[in-house]
Formats: sequence, structure tokens, C-alpha cells
Amino acid sequence: MDIKMKELIYLDNAATTQVYPEVLDAMTPYFTQYYGNPSAIYSFASDALKAVSEARKILSEGIGAKPEEIYFTAGGSESDNWAMKAAVEAYAAKGKHIITTKIEHHAILHTAQYLEKHGYEVTYLDVDENGMVSPEAVVAAIRPGTVLISVMAANNEIGTIEPLEEIGAIAKENGILFHTDAVQAFGHVPLDVEKMHIDMLSASAHKLNGPKGIGFLYIRQGVKMQALIHGGGQERQRRAGTHNVPGIVGFGEAAKIAFREMDKRNAYECALRDHLIERVLAEIPYSRLNGDRTNRLPGNASFCFRFIEGESLLILLDQNGICASSGSACTSGSLDPSHVLLAIGLPHEIAHGSLRLTLSEKTTKEEIDFTVDKIKEIVERLRNMSPLYEDFVKKNGKA
Ligand SMILES: *Cc1c(COP(=O)(O)O)cnc(C)c1O
Repeated sequence: MDIKMKELIYLDNAATTQVYPEVLDAMTPYFTQYYGNPSAIYSFASDALKAVSEARKILSEGIGAKPEEIYFTAGGSESDNWAMKAAVEAYAAKGKHIITTKIEHHAILHTAQYLEKHGYEVTYLDVDENGMVSPEAVVAAIRPGTVLISVMAANNEIGTIEPLEEIGAIAKENGILFHTDAVQAFGHVPLDVEKMHIDMLSASAHKLNGPKGIGFLYIRQGVKMQALIHGGGQERQRRAGTHNVPGIVGFGEAAKIAFREMDKRNAYECALRDHLIERVLAEIPYSRLNGDRTNRLPGNASFCFRFIEGESLLILLDQNGICASSGSACTSGSLDPSHVLLAIGLPHEIAHGSLRLTLSEKTTKEEIDFTVDKIKEIVERLRNMSPLYEDFVKKNGKA
């Protein structure tokens, strides 16, 4: 047991995932053997083109879209930037108002702030204590000049899954474009662009055991959008540049596996996640679960521990071979707590003590139990060094 536990315990699958061996195997020939440019005329290139088309088909079917509505990009951030900037530019004659939420990934939030500097108005919707966006709040924020609603499918920090179907219906009813950052959700939970009335959807391969640096933006047929990159005719003249063939093939393969295994994997991860949550809440005093208890990503468990700093906890977990995250996308060294934890109403001192553990289908119960034991130990140790905790215990007694 001890020897095994000295190996790495990777619980940061929301940050990135391991490339599956099958995915790597599918990619390799497109570096070494079928390296032709898929846009070339000669038949040697047709293998590469066929592989790109096959991946496009798998990815589009995964969200109920058509292959020609998938536009390959270099990842989730690029897709988010493109969706927001190009859509508002294309529809500027109608108005300059955007609706998004306070809990979006920085790829959306910082793009929204950029647009505010360029004459757009942005409404950042509040969320409830579980990080849920209310469809009524979306309705209330709509104005005559609203051209875009962007609400994430599932939150990367606290795992809450948003009511896309209701929000999509509202967008459609009001003739407003609806974009969703589905980077955490794609390949993990079911998505359907028809049922959810989604006009644009961002996804990224490395969050579902595919390679880094490849993603897509789904753009519904008929949506007017400016090109992101001008150049060659790739991606229907909207995103020029020679295709990243191995990356695209890897993305397709990863999605094929993800959709095939989704039910089985989710059942496994949910059970393990619930075991983790139950143990932490039962055994560690002054701890809380962040995010919706049931409407949450299967692999996500996000906690706050009072009287400690999340950063210190992470460093001590690392010394035990455990990779975790504070949940905050902030660069380390920043003193600001996560914007998501503040948006769900947590005071700064509680938000500072956050820990995000994100599981994969390869995570074992043994790893989870070892991790909980370590968290217990470390939290107690850190609290014993905390003057805040000392004061608290003096006033209230020990838990
Ligand atoms: C990871 C992530 C992104 C960024 O995707 P990249 O492919 O790393 O650029 C965007 N949004 C969410 C919700 C994410 O989790």
C-alpha cells in the first residue's frame, strides 16, 4: 500500500487529463505516415482529409450537430474568444448588449471585459448559492439591444451544471444568439444543440483525454460570423491555417471513447465522488461542499475548509504526491480568492480555504481514501498553527 501511495495521485482532471493510449495510437500515423496536407489535391493527402472528416463527424454527432457546423480551433479559450467577439461584431447593427454570468471561465470573462472597453455593454448575472444561473434572471436582463447570451454548460471550479435547455429556449424566443462554453461538459455529460437551442458551443480535447491545443467551435448554420483567422480556405473560410491533423484525429478518438463510455464512467465517478464528499463532510469539521449537490459534474468535488489557506493545503498535498487545485484559475501568488466562490456568496476568508478535487474513471477508492486521510491530517495541522482558529476555539470550544 505504501509503495503504491508514493505514486502520483492525480485529482486535477478539470485542469487537464491524460491522453488515452488509444488516442495516442490513433494520432501517431498522422505524424509519421499520413502527413500530407489535407487540402492538397494528390491522393496521398486524401487519407489525412478522410481522417479529419471522420473526426468532424464524430464530434458533430456528439452534440446533435452537422459536420459542417464544427470549426476546429486551437482549444477552448480560442473558441470562447471567437464566439463572443465575432458574434457581437456581426450583429452590432442590432445592438451592443451581452448577457453572461459571474462564474464564467476567464476565457469568457476577460473577453467580455475587453468588449466593454470597445463599446459593448455586459450584464454579468448573479448565481444562487449553488452556482446555478436562473432562467428568470436571464429573461430580466434582456433588452432591445441584446445580441448575445453566453452561459457555461458546467462550471470548472464547482462543477455545477447549468439549465441550458431553459436558457436556450429563452434566447430562441427572443431572437438572441446563445453561446455556451461547454469545455467541462463536452464528452462528460449529454449535450444537444437542438434540444438546448444552442447557436455556438466551445469544446476542447484535453479535457476529455485528448491532446492539448485542439478544440472546436460549433456554429449553427445560418449564424453570421466573421472569420477568426484570414488566410487559406480551411474551415469554410472562417478559420484559416493548415489543419492540425493529428490533433483533430486525437480529438475525434477521445470523443468516440467518451461518448461510448459516458454512462458507465459517470456511474463510477459519481459513486466515488459521493464517497469522497461524504467522508470529507463527516470527518472534517468546518468544511463545506461548493456547488450543487446533485446537478454537478460526475468527477467534481469542491470544498472550503475554514481557518486555512487553500494554497498551503495544496503544497502539503503535493508533498504527499497528490495533485489538486484550489479551484481558482488565478495565477498562483494572487491574493484574490476565486471569482466563482465569491459569486456563490462566500466571504473572502472562507473562499481562501478552497480545494478542488476532480476525478477520472481511473481514480480508485484507495486513492480517494488516502487523499481524505491526508486532507484531514493537513487541515488539522494548519488549523493548529492558525491564530484565527485559536481565537475561534477559545470562544466556541473545539469541534
Ligand atoms: C479549460 C477551460 C477552458 C479553456 O480551454 P483551453 O483548451 O485550455 O483553452 C475554457 N473554459 C472552461 C470552462 C474550461 O474548463
